[in-house]
Amino acid sequence: MPTYDYDLFVIGAGSGGVRASRMASQFGAKVAVAEDQYLGGTCVNVGCVPKKLFSYASHFSEEFRHSKGFGWSDINPTFDWPTLVANKDTEISRLNGIYKNLLENAGVTLLDGRATLVDTHTIAINDKRITTDKILLATGGWPFIPDFPGKEHVISSNEIFYLKKFPNRLLVVGGGYIAVEFAGIFSGLGADVTLSYRGPLFLRNFDTDIRTVLATEMAKKGVTLNFNSNVVSVSKEKDGILQVCFDNGESANFDSILYATGRAPNTTDLGLENAGIKTNSNGTIIVDKYHKTSIESIYALGDLIEGPELTPVALREGTALANTLFNNAPQIVDYSNIPTAVFSHPNIGTVGLTEEEARKSFTNIEIYKSTFKHLKHTLSGSDEKTFMKLVVNKDNDLVVGVHMIGPDAGEIIQGMAIALKAGATKSTFDSTIGIHPTAAEEFVTMREPS
Ligand code: FAD
Ligand code: NDP
Repeated sequence: MPTYDYDLFVIGAGSGGVRASRMASQFGAKVAVAEDQYLGGTCVNVGCVPKKLFSYASHFSEEFRHSKGFGWSDINPTFDWPTLVANKDTEISRLNGIYKNLLENAGVTLLDGRATLVDTHTIAINDKRITTDKILLATGGWPFIPDFPGKEHVISSNEIFYLKKFPNRLLVVGGGYIAVEFAGIFSGLGADVTLSYRGPLFLRNFDTDIRTVLATEMAKKGVTLNFNSNVVSVSKEKDGILQVCFDNGESANFDSILYATGRAPNTTDLGLENAGIKTNSNGTIIVDKYHKTSIESIYALGDLIEGPELTPVALREGTALANTLFNNAPQIVDYSNIPTAVFSHPNIGTVGLTEEEARKSFTNIEIYKSTFKHLKHTLSGSDEKTFMKLVVNKDNDLVVGVHMIGPDAGEIIQGMAIALKAGATKSTFDSTIGIHPTAAEEFVTMREPS
């Protein structure tokens, strides 16, 4: 048996890499993890966490407006962008420290630097060669921006968290999670936001009703939605203003342009070819159900492989991998009914099949829908609508999809995901007593199919 420096070498201390290395070490393996940017990866530094903090900040503007109907007066708040960014940075630094402690306390060796595969058992980092029995690739993704004249003037989600100056006029390009979330966030913070999406309606793989309601609500909140719209070029004027030409012949000026046009696997200079690792045509790494790549000693997980790009998924994959390799307890991740939230304004929460997917999978589908005004808005003056939808397979009464758009949709749908995992039927929903007065109780009181 050859002897190696480590049992497991993990490249990338993000959501998946930290979880896998920490657990593997706790199971007795000798583990090292390499990280070249920030502990905690995308989610902690330029993803979920700072995004949600910005989203909280953004909701205050509505709260201030709504409070008048409840008797509050003389509310004239001002917003200071540098304060939000600085406070967010302090919190992220705190979290970076927590991740460092978590790894060190678990006995993982932390290496600061960019790691490259030399061969199937050797890593190069900081001019050193390290040998290892097994390797885990957990390098995540990186923003993808298509080529066009003026590309150098636009930013990605990586940069928007650190903008020095608040963009009073923001163009967001894309129609996925990041585009709708940031359009809502910056609109709420007071920017004049335009969203440009190439297709007829954003959030392509979500339930059509949800997408339609979101478009209506975002437009009501003042976001300009340009669908079937493409950027042709961007130029920077003398005063730093960005002039954008669109494919309908129109042009407009912005202070910042956020491209949220997807993310690509972060494999630049990773040395995949040195180890002979196979990838899909989109660059994601091909793995089997135990996350093993085409090479016996090398594994991959998280945003680097095909599948949902979500932190809880990367975490679950890390847990499964550590159990499989070092706890004598092989685990396969169950990818069914993964709930997800889009922190758009209003929020979306969803689990299971969309109506469109369910109609393709089953012959006998029943849909229950409810659109209503949240109790809070009877006094707030807002005409925002909350929308809920259940997709039921009538043949066996199983609820196969639950969708919501409205305040705290993510919080509410987490519980619905447990119900779906447990095999809840429509009768189970009907026999559940509601919590009154909440919006969530509507999920157990929808009686008439639409
Ligand atoms: P990452 O967390 O990206 O970690 C990869 C790490 O590897 C990084 O730290 C990187 O620096 C490091 N690395 C890369 N190459 C090397 C190398 N060669 N050597 C050393 N280190 C290397 N998901 C949710 O579930 N909820 C959300 O609300 C949410 N919001 C998001 C908002 C934004 C703006 C973005 C961009 C993403 C969001 N996500 C969200 C997605 C989530 O962040 C990712 O799915 C998750 O971080 C993936 O984890 P990972 O371990 O695969 O990779
Ligand atoms: P998404 O894949 O969600 O969306 C990408 C968007 O960009 C789509 O609307 C796509 O259009 C469009 N697009 C792709 N290529 C081009 C192009 N060449 N020109 C114009 N438009 C283009 O990616 P995001 O960047 O929004 O986010 C990356 C991932 O991060 C998400 O998929 C999600 O998994 C994760 N994330 C999760 C969050 C959460 O859990 N709340 C929040 C933020 C990110 P089309 O639909 O037509 O292909």
